[in-house]
Amino acid sequence: EENEIRCSGCGIRLQSEEQNKPGYIPLQALEREPVICQRCFRIKNYNESSSVTVEQDEFLRLLGQIGGKDALVIHIVDIFDFHGSVISGLQRFIGNNPVLLAVNKIDLLPKVTNWNKVRNWVQKEAKELGLKVVDVVLCSAKQSSGFDRLLEALAEYRGDRDVYVVGATNVGKSTLINRLIRDYSDLDQELTVSRYPGTTLDMVHIPLDDGREIIDTPGIMYPSRYSELVSPQDLGVILPDKPLKPAVYQLNEGQTLFFGGFGRFDFIQGERQSFTCFASGRVPLHRTKLERADELFRDHAGELLAPPSRESLEKLPEWTRHEFRIAKGSRSDLFISGLGWIKVNNDSGAVLAVHVPKGIKVLVRPSLI
Ligand code: GDP
Repeated sequence: EENEIRCSGCGIRLQSEEQNKPGYIPLQALEREPVICQRCFRIKNYNESSSVTVEQDEFLRLLGQIGGKDALVIHIVDIFDFHGSVISGLQRFIGNNPVLLAVNKIDLLPKVTNWNKVRNWVQKEAKELGLKVVDVVLCSAKQSSGFDRLLEALAEYRGDRDVYVVGATNVGKSTLINRLIRDYSDLDQELTVSRYPGTTLDMVHIPLDDGREIIDTPGIMYPSRYSELVSPQDLGVILPDKPLKPAVYQLNEGQTLFFGGFGRFDFIQGERQSFTCFASGRVPLHRTKLERADELFRDHAGELLAPPSRESLEKLPEWTRHEFRIAKGSRSDLFISGLGWIKVNNDSGAVLAVHVPKGIKVLVRPSLI
């Protein structure tokens, strides 16, 4: 053919007749520069264009649809914000469909982590939350690790069913799907990815070679996560991008640790003991006396205690105080959704408090590492 046009991405001959065949390009996209097939377009633009998010109600309606189908559900959670990113009540909505839990961002945990212990911990916490998890796969979309296992598990548990991918925002869902697309397309040149901007729910369908598909659902927004509350600038501060460097503090009762101006941890009562802070390295920790803490925050928030800046702080809800009594001998984390956690290395019991903006999820859990 004379005027055959090729994709400037992958070189395939372009066609506008069959959407599910290689080289497909919508007619109107031929006028765009560069001229690339839909598959290349998707791979190239996925990260920017897939940041589709929805509020809870809408998301639950969508989950309800999955309940009526025979499908495998891949639930992606963020190991840094496990209890903030796990979709509580997921099982209620998706019926008896099995859940494959993909635990992303494991590159953030220290290199010397005991991965079996982490997997068991995830399994146990998921069970507590009522999730029927067929398997737990630890992965890092960023480092492309754990992917062989994820693809294997996907093939193993999917049978001949569709796959729904669900997750909260910022768990790395688009990064991970992007990798899936790439990995699959190495194996299978037939793969095309298309976007069906239908209703309010903008789902992405990735056809599989047996006629089934992977359906990417929009990311759900939870206002209980710090990461949903802060400015984009502060998000870059609280979201770690390097392995966490746990900071150990020996504290006496009556001492306080400030996490920049994001939050505050009080050691109210107990014997001198150590606490290990797991947070982004860009969040400066500041130790002070508990009796001085209120005043310090009032006078120096946004300056000495920063980030966030004073202006950003004004946009955040007021702080509330959460008090916890840690039993002697329990190995616990005081978890602050989106900001990190404080491991209580206690052998003697402690009374602790956390101050964070109202609405942020704070809880005590068995320690992760
Ligand atoms: P989505 O909202 O779930 O689609 O999440 P994105 O894929 O947009 O990722 C959200 C943020 O997490 C981005 O800053 C990514 O760079 C980061 N991210 C994604 N996957 C990983 C990972 O495996 N490790 C780390 N450290 N960061 C990741």
